[in-house]
Amino acid sequence: MPHESLEHLVKRAVVEALRGIPVPVWERIAPKDVIGLVYHTVSDDDLPHLKLYDYKNRAQFESDVVHARGNAVGYDDVANHRHRWTRMPANSVLFTFDDGLTECFHVIRPILRRHSVPAIFFVNTNFLDDRETFFETTLSLCLGRIETIDEKRAEDILAALVPNPVDPTRPTGSAELGRNRLRDARARIPPSHVHQRLALWLLGFEEDGRGEIDQAWKLLGPDVAAGPSRRTCMTTAEVKQLAAEGFVIGSHGETHLPMQRLDARALEERIVSSCETVRGLSGQKRVPFAFPYTGLGIDRGILADILRRNPFIDLLFDTQDLTRDAEFMVHRICADRPPVDGGGATNLPLLMRTAWSRRSAWYRARK
Ligand SMILES: [Zn+2]
Repeated sequence: MPHESLEHLVKRAVVEALRGIPVPVWERIAPKDVIGLVYHTVSDDDLPHLKLYDYKNRAQFESDVVHARGNAVGYDDVANHRHRWTRMPANSVLFTFDDGLTECFHVIRPILRRHSVPAIFFVNTNFLDDRETFFETTLSLCLGRIETIDEKRAEDILAALVPNPVDPTRPTGSAELGRNRLRDARARIPPSHVHQRLALWLLGFEEDGRGEIDQAWKLLGPDVAAGPSRRTCMTTAEVKQLAAEGFVIGSHGETHLPMQRLDARALEERIVSSCETVRGLSGQKRVPFAFPYTGLGIDRGILADILRRNPFIDLLFDTQDLTRDAEFMVHRICADRPPVDGGGATNLPLLMRTAWSRRSAWYRARK
């Protein structure tokens, strides 16, 4: 047997063995102060404007809540513990929700209240009251149209959007991002070359490709006035009510721009101004902030300085499972993915075991 494949087999066996370790064992051998969970939405309906994320139905989400409620803590518990003011039981669970979608209020809130489970809702301040549409919403609607159009129509639209030969001054998105998104999207794009190319081209754009995405939507959905036909994000009044009921409101940015693109000054301006808006809305003394997508690669020293200058922002949230990081950073496991069998049982133990089996959960290279 060649050397490499033996190595590969051993590695795979190790990964499998680590993944098989039950949560109670991990809790003992590699305890965490807090296990953050991040969801985006929960719904029993097919949401045409949310094709880029998985989500659980009510029963599945309620099973998660029931499973974790005994260990659930609130934001203040975690913040006070991280500041070393109070102690908290190891392996506590913190529920969080990103993007401020309307289901947070109408579906998630009643379930959390029924079980007295605290949570943080991270909102994008410009998206409240649907004042601005998240570009991923428009992207999802475009995908829904691409699913239904015939090849000739797809070809015409592609020709209108992507001039041939491609104009070098015209910005184009990332091919890799497009491929990754298409792989994960809940969309049935016809297998034809032209349908696939159109979907891939569109999915390669981010917030700064708004112009292209809007133009595509005009061509794909000309009979629809503008954007989605239903409310997508929470209203300001709903956010205020969540805060009045004891939930914590955090900022997820003004829009959903990846913050890696910003220099230190712009980064600080964006974090602080969106957190100030949330402070005004919620009446909270302190406001947590969760990075759109991820805070990976953003200098922790720069972030520490921002927090020192703006003490009302106390903890930052990221999405790298159980990764060890700076004291002010709380990582979270994405819990959106429903159980593979589609049933109503919780898959949190599996998600936690998988997160704990990653080297980053218990290993930190010495600097
Ligand atoms: Zn987000």
